[in-house]
Amino acid sequence: MKKYGAVLLLAILLFPTAVKAQEEKVYTLPSAQPVYEPTYRNDGIDAPVKNVIFMVGDGMGLAHMASALYANRGDLTIARLHHIGLVRTQSGNRYITDSAAAGTAYATGRKTDNNCVGTAAAGDTLENMTEILAARGYATGIVTTDKISGATPAAFYAHQPKRSMTAEILTDLAHTRADFVAGSSVSLFEKMEGGKLDSLRAHGFTVVHDFRALPELAADKIALIACDRDAEWVQNGRDSDYLRAVSEFAMKFLADKSDKGFFLLIEGAEIDHAAHGNDLEGVVRETLDFDKAVAEALRFADSNGETLVVILADHETGGLALGDGDVSEGRVSGRFTSTGHSPVPVPVYAYGPHADDFCGVLENTEIFFRIRAALQHGR
Ligand SMILES: [Zn+2]
Repeated sequence: MKKYGAVLLLAILLFPTAVKAQEEKVYTLPSAQPVYEPTYRNDGIDAPVKNVIFMVGDGMGLAHMASALYANRGDLTIARLHHIGLVRTQSGNRYITDSAAAGTAYATGRKTDNNCVGTAAAGDTLENMTEILAARGYATGIVTTDKISGATPAAFYAHQPKRSMTAEILTDLAHTRADFVAGSSVSLFEKMEGGKLDSLRAHGFTVVHDFRALPELAADKIALIACDRDAEWVQNGRDSDYLRAVSEFAMKFLADKSDKGFFLLIEGAEIDHAAHGNDLEGVVRETLDFDKAVAEALRFADSNGETLVVILADHETGGLALGDGDVSEGRVSGRFTSTGHSPVPVPVYAYGPHADDFCGVLENTEIFFRIRAALQHGR
């Protein structure tokens, strides 16, 4: 035993951050938030799909979902879904993916190298879901709690070999085929040279900064470049209605926009950021915030029976392992085993017609093809 003690002491001295990353975190959610009871209308049946709502909880592995489920007194909208699979997340060149390669896999159906946003490893442009469907007459939209230039939303509108090429990515944003884009933040655009907001306006976007102004707007194309406080974590001041309200507006706006149907990406980005920070409260609260947007998507799907909702993560973040807790008190505990991403497969939940196509263990690129096939039902 003595020998192991000496080894542990040596490990602490040599790798203080590695050991710190495994410190136990405990969080108790003060009170539970309501959960939406789905009607399961057309759930998992072989019927036409008109709309697709594609929801990415960035970094949301099974433990992240479970921590929110147990903290919320054992109930979560996501946890009510019946069609569940697992997604393998490896990128073209790495065992552990980043959000750029993972987002590109979902957006284009192609594996690429880490860092690439909407391009192959060699740099050539890969056509994304937004472009493919817009060309066929669908309305399309992108909603995120991240910077609008973040790798996940950018995979659905940009084509750049490096995710850090923010200026080029924002230039691509002005040229997007999407009808509605929402992300943060005003200060990102203020830091950029070249009048990026003017460029959005020149490409037909009505630009707003306060999400509460959306319902009053009559516009052909809308860019919500959110206020800086809406770029924060919920526990640091983001309005806890932001993602839900913007998602609800986006569904209505896109549904009104095209009789053909729509494709909408909704990203809960801060789950990943909280997990990178090894912040269990942040993981729970951001996952619960995302769950409210999920409830809104299911409510919309139930209103028409022609909407496929796919909810997944791009990868797991933090290597989160849950420990003891208490469901009736809403107390959870856990240890993060890293401050980066992990290779653990992530759950995919689906709802609506063709939801059963998302069961099994799937490669991330396969998600793209199953969505495309569901939209081509009977054609
Ligand atoms: Zn990340």
